[in-house]
Amino acid sequence: MRVKFWGTRGSIPTPEPTAMRYGGDTSCVEIRAGSTLLILDAGTGIRKLGYTLMSDPFFKGKGYIFLSHFHWDHIQGIPFFQPGFVPGNEFSIHGAFKVDSRLEDALRGQMGSLYFPVKMSDMPSSVHFIELLEETITLGDCIVTSRFLNHPQGAFGYRVEDENAVVAYATDNEPWPDRHKDQKLHELAQDADLLIMDAQFTPEDYEAHRGWGHSTWRDCVEVAKAAGVKMLCLFHHDPYREDDVIDQYLELARREFPNTIAASRELTLELPMEDRLTPRPLPDAKPVPRSGPIEKRAEGPDTSGGSWKPEGRDVGAVLFIGSPPNLSLLNSRVFHEAVLSKLKPSQRRVVLDMEALAYIDSAGIGSLALLFEALKKKGLELALCNVSKAILGVLDITRFTTIIKVFNSADDAARI
Ligand SMILES: [Zn+2]
Ligand SMILES: [Zn+2]
Repeated sequence: MRVKFWGTRGSIPTPEPTAMRYGGDTSCVEIRAGSTLLILDAGTGIRKLGYTLMSDPFFKGKGYIFLSHFHWDHIQGIPFFQPGFVPGNEFSIHGAFKVDSRLEDALRGQMGSLYFPVKMSDMPSSVHFIELLEETITLGDCIVTSRFLNHPQGAFGYRVEDENAVVAYATDNEPWPDRHKDQKLHELAQDADLLIMDAQFTPEDYEAHRGWGHSTWRDCVEVAKAAGVKMLCLFHHDPYREDDVIDQYLELARREFPNTIAASRELTLELPMEDRLTPRPLPDAKPVPRSGPIEKRAEGPDTSGGSWKPEGRDVGAVLFIGSPPNLSLLNSRVFHEAVLSKLKPSQRRVVLDMEALAYIDSAGIGSLALLFEALKKKGLELALCNVSKAILGVLDITRFTTIIKVFNSADDAARI
């Protein structure tokens, strides 16, 4: 596996001589695994990657782009990505599913006529948009696992593995105040050959920036040690940090974790650094092969085959529906009609009691969205109660909680 850094800077490009050694372009990392091209983030660094690919005989016109999130420093290079303007080229852009905004809209928006003269739809290459939840997928020679990080508006970290090496990419992340929530980051980083991690702040200036969604070199060292990574790479350098200053805290980090580097302009790493005989996937990874470029989420007929029927329970103006054993059972017109048929004219709220559910996956999120839409069309409200903390976390990050009311208890949900 080969890893090359095209953009290392956080927040905004820094085209200053004093920042050139570590680099002035914003986040973009190229990964080559066999014949598979992965691009992690599309900050301004993707511009130079793009024109390098134009003359690369090994580039076959196809690549997979994974966006951590949609802040400018992670998407701003897309309009200048030359291979996107070549007919016949094909790119799949992956990013987090959010219930109130589409990945496609987020990227088309930055190329709206107010901001840019060329529309994304005018890019002649074939571009597919794939929305992910926390999951593990196989793409070409790679397995990619996504996990949510702690960042304003949410961000994804990715773990990329091929048969030889593992790279964890965790930029734009602030340690949770409740440290056990950092478990997801540790899952991504576990035993990785290389951990590329947000080191925007120093421990000294972190306090003044608490809540901004970034970590320090010391946080990186802690994760690297705890997760047993081989090499730590400090990334997403603060735009106000000159090269000499990065040198200083790199030195401090090395005292605590000797195998630390700082991402620098066009740095290229060949992994593994030492021979490794067997790949080490996540212990519970369940790769989902993706045959086509686009996954349609949670649509179509009910294929669950289950015989579960919604049991309605009237409480005044509210209809309660007990949670099904599997949320994908909500994903059928038959189910939606059954719910609607149980509603009395005075009832405007349908409450799904989630007590029996311990987790939610992408199919479940899609099913909830479809039920929400079916009820909304009739002017009805969907609400949830008895939601576990784990599910609530996913609903928060996918912005579901901005459109669906979540009540602590059935009693609270029954009050209108
Ligand atoms: Zn950023
Ligand atoms: Zn950000």
